[in-house]
Amino acid sequence: MGSNVSQLDSNRDRRHSAWVTYPATVTRMVQECADVFTYDLHFDDPVTAEQFDFQPGQFNMLYVPGIGESAISIAGWAKDGQGLRHTIRSVGNVTDAIARGGVGMSLGIRGPFGSHWPIEHLTQAKSPLDVVVVAGGIGLAPLRSLIEFMIEHRSQIGNVDLLLGARSPQDFLYREDWDRWTEHGIRIALTVDRADRSWQGHLGVITLLLEQMTIPDPAHTLLMTCGPEVMMRYVGGVGAEKQIALEDIWLTLERNMNCAIGLCGHCQLGPEFICKDGPVLRYGRVRQWLRVQDL
Ligand SMILES: Cc1cc2nc3c(=O)[nH]c(=O)nc-3n(C[C@H](O)[C@H](O)[C@H](O)COP(=O)(O)OP(=O)(O)OC[C@H]3O[C@@H](n4cnc5c(N)ncnc54)[C@H](O)[C@@H]3O)c2cc1C
Repeated sequence: MGSNVSQLDSNRDRRHSAWVTYPATVTRMVQECADVFTYDLHFDDPVTAEQFDFQPGQFNMLYVPGIGESAISIAGWAKDGQGLRHTIRSVGNVTDAIARGGVGMSLGIRGPFGSHWPIEHLTQAKSPLDVVVVAGGIGLAPLRSLIEFMIEHRSQIGNVDLLLGARSPQDFLYREDWDRWTEHGIRIALTVDRADRSWQGHLGVITLLLEQMTIPDPAHTLLMTCGPEVMMRYVGGVGAEKQIALEDIWLTLERNMNCAIGLCGHCQLGPEFICKDGPVLRYGRVRQWLRVQDL
């Protein structure tokens, strides 16, 4: 009885604090490609800044006063390590307002929410696991904090392969991070849908890169992916064909969100609420729903 009551209280506290929006200011803005920007945000309150923490793969709700709120993945810590980094494609009301506001803009942060990439599997494995990360376009944003985590724990992790796909050579994200990532032994392979004269690299969909890859030890490999849903469906399928266990294939999903804590039902996919059961989920858990069009 006692433990049930305290469980109830902690849920209530969580839901209460989940509604609190913390004021923050945009301190840096970098254009990644035509309609995508990376922002560093700093909390206005030093105590919030000190206490805020997140796990790779979680997301925040960013609030623009008078306009609305959007779910945005946490791409990592800001350049100075104090604030947060978010990468945002301008597609509508909230995201356009943030792009227009730029450096100096005030906005609200509610979060962090949702599940995270299986980082415990990486650090608690008996022997180092290999990791294949497959990112399509802005799908690299929720994977960036995972990559930074793997760099921090590099000695505990085996081979890391990062397969990146973009519409064109101009659309890749985080070029400023690539040299640092490769210095830590992360192998990066690139492909584009449409090449220009300068492009000497691979042309075609990202699943081809994965198909061509040799996975030396699939029983000790984790595959993590983010991108358009159709891409993730194929990536999951190719991973399974390469003998990676379904439970070792992970993806992150997007749905329209309002509350972010499993109350409003906007983000429901089959039996899952993407905001609280996800956004990071095992491919095997959701693959049947991904086959249903417009679900
Ligand atoms: C868990 C989670 C994490 C996310 N992480 C990121 C992230 O890191 N970076 C990021 O840029 N976005 C991310 N998104 C998507 C983001 O939430 C939406 O793009 C955003 O809410 C759009 O809000 P808006 O007010 O700007 O657009 P609205 O005014 O609501 O929409 C304008 C138009 O854009 C369309 N639209 C909405 N969302 C998208 C989309 N994702 N792609 C293309 N068109 C869309 C709408 O259908 C509508 O036609 C994430 C979503 C979820 C659920």
